[in-house]
Formats: sequence, structure tokens, C-alpha cells
Amino acid sequence: PLVKDIMVKKVATTRAGVSVDDAARTIIKDRFNHLPVVDDEKRLIGIITAWDVSKAVALSKRDSLDMVMTKNVVTVGPDDPVDLAVRLLEKHNISALPVIDHDRKVLGIVTAECLSKLLARGP
Ligand code: SAM
Repeated sequence: PLVKDIMVKKVATTRAGVSVDDAARTIIKDRFNHLPVVDDEKRLIGIITAWDVSKAVALSKRDSLDMVMTKNVVTVGPDDPVDLAVRLLEKHNISALPVIDHDRKVLGIVTAECLSKLLARGP
């Protein structure tokens, strides 16, 4: 299978200028652990997770996401094989990869949960 066959397409995103509290509210409201951060053209510029929110609280850096988001985002394309996504998650010790097009626009997200569902479905 390919990434586009298993990715979650309706993914919530946020902007770098919002507060950490705002991002935390989006994470809770949309029930996603990973929130891609996009610019005005909806291009991916970072990712923020529940883990990053905890870190921001611990360090009292809650004014904007720019300081706490991860900017070097590991991504995949929709036509990449699922095997590649699995290898990247393992290699970088992360649990989600934004799926982007050639313009860095976010098309979806592939998570460890998507992969366990794929395994549960069987061959
Ligand atoms: N295993 C947990 C997880 O997957 O979220 C926590 C460890 S992971 C090293 C936590 C860090 O990875 C966070 O700072 C988060 O921003 C970052 N991260 C999550 N997904 C990422 C991705 N696709 N590319 C780059 N960094 C990512």
C-alpha cells in the first residue's frame, strides 16, 4: 500500500504565531497528538505535539509556537510506500509524519495508529 491509502486526510493545522495555549486547545478539540504548523500559504513550516506543549509549560515558554515547534519536520509524499513511512518513524523515534505535496502543502498525516490499523486489517 501507499501512504495516500492509509493517511488521515482531515488533519487540523495551526500557525506559528498562535500561543502554546491555543495549540493545546486545538490538540484537545481535534483529538490529534500532532499538529502541523503552516504559513499563510498553507505550507508546512513545523510540527507541534502534546510533548512539545508539555515542554513549553515546563520551560514557561508559552507565548508563541515559533520557539517550541520542531522546524526540521520529517515528511512523506502521498505516493511513497507505507514501508518508507514505517522506516522513517522508527529511525527518528517519532509517531507521525505529515504528508505533503511538491509545494509543501499538507495533504494529511500518517501516524503509528494508521499503521497498527493496517496491520489489524490483515493481508
Ligand atoms: N515518541 C514520542 C512521539 O512520537 O511524539 C515523543 C518523542 S519525539 C522525539 C518528540 C519530538 O519529536 C517532539 O519535539 C516533536 O515535535 C518531534 N516530532 C514529532 N513528529 C515529527 C516529525 N514528523 N518530524 C520531526 N519531528 C517530529
